[in-house]
Amino acid sequence: MSDLCVICNGETKVIESRRLNNAKRRRRECLHCTHRFTTYETLLKDPDLEKILENLENAQWHTNHLLDHLKHLIGGIKELTHQNLSPEDSDIYVENSGIEL
Ligand SMILES: [Zn+2]
Repeated sequence: MSDLCVICNGETKVIESRRLNNAKRRRRECLHCTHRFTTYETLLKDPDLEKILENLENAQWHTNHLLDHLKHLIGGIKELTHQNLSPEDSDIYVENSGIEL
């Protein structure tokens, strides 16, 4: 979108700038003929970008899943430490808790 005057093609200045949901609205005034007009600046929705966002969300889900798993694992280890079990007992405990090491 051109920021030149739509009437005389002259240079313009921004007299008002307002942010809308996904766009930027600019009120411009021509420095030559003082004609005023409005421009909108929007981000094009790229299908590739959408795919990337989807992949990021999936990655986020996997990370959260892994973190939950680790928290359970750490929780189990803390419990074992508090119980002062022998290494043999720990193996049994971990097996019974269903945690895969
Ligand atoms: Zn003009």
